[in-house]
Amino acid sequence: MLRLLTTALVAVLSLTLSAQPARAPQSGATQAPDDYFGFHIGADGELARYPKIVEYLQHLAKTTSRVKFEEIGKTTMGNPYVLATISTPENLAKLNRLVEINRRLADPRGLSEAEAKRLAQEGRAFYFIYGTIHSTEVGNTQSLIEIAHRLATDNSPEIKQILDNDVILLVPSQNPDGQYLVVDHWYKTKGTPFTRTYPDLYHKYVGHDDNRDWFMFTQKETRLALQIQNGYKPIITHDMHQMGSGGARIFVPPFDDPYDPNVHPLIAQGIMTAGQAMASALVSEGKGGVEWLSRYDLWSAARQYMVYHGQPRILTEIASVNLADPLINQDGAPMGPQEARWNFPLPYRKSEWRLRDIVDYGNTVAFAGMSYVAKYRTQWLENFYRIHADWVNRTDPPYAFVVPAAQPDPFETFEMLDILRTGDVEIHQAKAAFKAGGKDYAAGSWVIRTAQPSGAFAKTMLERQKYPDLRLYPGGPPKAPYDVTGQTLWMLMGVHVDQIEKPFEAPLELVKTPRPAAPAFTPVASGVYTMDPASNAGFIAVAKLQAANVPVYRAADSSSIPAGTWIVPATPESTRILGEVSRSTGLAVRGGERRVTGDLYRLKPNTRIGLWRGANVMPAGWLKWVFEQYGFNHKAIASTDVAGDLASQYDSIVLPDGTSRNTIVNGLSPDRNGKEWEWAYGVGEAGWKKLADWVRGGGTLVAIGSAVETARQLLDLPIEAVLPEPRGGGRGGEGGRGGRGAAAPDQAVTEGRPSTGSGQGGRGGRGGGADAATSALRDAFSSPASLDAVLRERVIDPTTLFYCPGSLLQNEFNTAHPVAFGMPSAWPIFFEGDQAYRLKPGFEIQSEVVARYPARGAILQSGWLLGEDLLRDQANVVAFRVGKGYVVTMGSQVDFRAQPRATFKLIFNAMFHGPSTRVDATQLGTK
Ligand SMILES: [Zn+2]
Repeated sequence: MLRLLTTALVAVLSLTLSAQPARAPQSGATQAPDDYFGFHIGADGELARYPKIVEYLQHLAKTTSRVKFEEIGKTTMGNPYVLATISTPENLAKLNRLVEINRRLADPRGLSEAEAKRLAQEGRAFYFIYGTIHSTEVGNTQSLIEIAHRLATDNSPEIKQILDNDVILLVPSQNPDGQYLVVDHWYKTKGTPFTRTYPDLYHKYVGHDDNRDWFMFTQKETRLALQIQNGYKPIITHDMHQMGSGGARIFVPPFDDPYDPNVHPLIAQGIMTAGQAMASALVSEGKGGVEWLSRYDLWSAARQYMVYHGQPRILTEIASVNLADPLINQDGAPMGPQEARWNFPLPYRKSEWRLRDIVDYGNTVAFAGMSYVAKYRTQWLENFYRIHADWVNRTDPPYAFVVPAAQPDPFETFEMLDILRTGDVEIHQAKAAFKAGGKDYAAGSWVIRTAQPSGAFAKTMLERQKYPDLRLYPGGPPKAPYDVTGQTLWMLMGVHVDQIEKPFEAPLELVKTPRPAAPAFTPVASGVYTMDPASNAGFIAVAKLQAANVPVYRAADSSSIPAGTWIVPATPESTRILGEVSRSTGLAVRGGERRVTGDLYRLKPNTRIGLWRGANVMPAGWLKWVFEQYGFNHKAIASTDVAGDLASQYDSIVLPDGTSRNTIVNGLSPDRNGKEWEWAYGVGEAGWKKLADWVRGGGTLVAIGSAVETARQLLDLPIEAVLPEPRGGGRGGEGGRGGRGAAAPDQAVTEGRPSTGSGQGGRGGRGGGADAATSALRDAFSSPASLDAVLRERVIDPTTLFYCPGSLLQNEFNTAHPVAFGMPSAWPIFFEGDQAYRLKPGFEIQSEVVARYPARGAILQSGWLLGEDLLRDQANVVAFRVGKGYVVTMGSQVDFRAQPRATFKLIFNAMFHGPSTRVDATQLGTK
């Protein structure tokens, strides 16, 4: 949001790469990890704490000549985010030169092939490795302690080869805050009846979704990592994870199909060869249970910044234990599947699996990867050059994307350009009008060419995704993707962008930092200011005006100005606030003696918003972040609040996706969670009834995604779901998938066998018949004899199949309705395993459809959708009058991971409209 003004770019460019002179090691002073931490790393029940790990890296930097330590910045909760750069003293001494080579190879415009080859000889392979972006996957950070120590001290030929050829960029944890939360909780609950796993989001806002932020860069940790990515331009990134414990012991690349066609073939090759070097090392050391080509795909940009920036993405996923406690099969049965296959050559034969095993497997894959890259260093650097050379010389369409200067929401337009700039995309601006693709564009329009070093990133972000129609077998159920399938940025953000296929001429200049063109703001002494409702920035202004006790109105009809227009009486305070917001966001504010007639909605002063947060509900965490960015007067609702009088505390309550009757009534169990979790305990049946009474008594309830069903149950709303109910695995089964699930490791469901490349392990989504078939198929795979029968019988009836695992779908909006004020008449919404509704006849509760799926024309705009016809003419957003209260249900996740900003307005409108009062324009400015 307002980070627009902070510009991560400055940070990237100011990254200190000052060469440090190689220092002589202070011999004998380096302590081995076990001595330093006081226990054997990986020992059952023991976890090294993050602050001590940071100290240890500093210790290595002080006592050896191979380690450079730096703090890149502070995390969300103010903890240090650190980087250890490890190589030979000679390489460290010329680090600036080596980074310069990386940057040159990453932008080979004007570089001859011969010169590139010479640079590849001179350069070193930068290997970026990090662990525990998912904080409960604790083993890898423990492993990175030993990896750093060995690189810093070992004099074996293998380590010498790595250090001579590589520069290791080692981040011990990509989410340090989570390391504090999870590890401290682990020790604190030792010997108690309480659950040992941290029960809430292990990242303040986004929990397990922290690795779904690699294209919108909303969180501090994402931007810190980007300082390393963009600053050093590594040639490979190794992201260490853990998965569920029942299947394979470790996953290494190659990935399962599909992969984003914007990924360069040499990147796919690099992923395969480096992954297989790791597999070979594991097998040769007798470490069984290694699997590849399964489950994890390479489609969603949200998880893979590096592949659009010239680097293979190495994902390793090691089977989990119970945090630091071992898993032991009491019956002595070996762990995981026992039949060898091409992508699983050596089953794991033991019946125990410990934290130490995770550390050992982590060490093996890290050194195998570093070693492989070291052996073929020149080739890796040449490939890095070749990938970028192909990108800058690209001639395939599209030629460019054009962002017209005039936009309904200038604020989100600049946010979008800022995201692209942060992703190292070059943006040009037109100094004069031009023509492209047969259309006229005004001066000031922006042009993003695809032929540029980060062109693959720009293209994947700005084009429409066409996800392949992958099935488990011909005519069968869909093969589930690992994550979402559509991410078209301008659709998400409500910005108009045109894709231009053929080259065109335009008078362009490179823009370093796109900034809002401050619209003319003329302060007035009396009368009113008006603001167009189309910009999200209007809500930033509303939050500030409310905080300053300035009354805010909206036109209820279009008798004098368009319905939904913001109206603010001109006062010195409103003049100051609106001038400031206009300057920082590009919000157009008009002032003057404008005569306003007709009816208005007067917002309730200081509208008090409650967010039903619950424990470990990622959508609630994301919304909390959004509300903070906008500065709304909001509070996360604690169960203890419900014991009091709700009406005296809240005007509007938002139930985020993932809020069920069960999470409200039962919440966290007091038996399993200490008193500090009281806020997340259930409110019981009495609290449930109280919430319903509060709505009927005049409260405003906004329910999103799966919480629509919760609201329906709470108030007996006259709607019914029209899409087949999910069965089988269902969503949320896979923690890695984001959505609603708890922060489980990346593969919560493995059921004693490796996933078979069919990706069916509980990812679910609203599949209806597809999910049932998927479930049956999963069972069949564990018993091959029945597989043929299942395959023969389970041909899906295409008329009842519905599947939409994260796509952009067209909606039509009733823009005269207060909940859709400021929306265009049609725009894509985000839909991820969600639901659509039809109204049921009823007399008690009035209902109005605010947003619906179109009766004709394409519904799918980007991503993948099966069963489009089931959505035809069905409702998405519905507003209800319930007693004296107001309820708005949004069937699709219009706020999914804070990404679809085009539809934020639906939520905000609903929150502020419900408690507002309808008044005559003559009352404008009166209290
Ligand atoms: Zn993970």
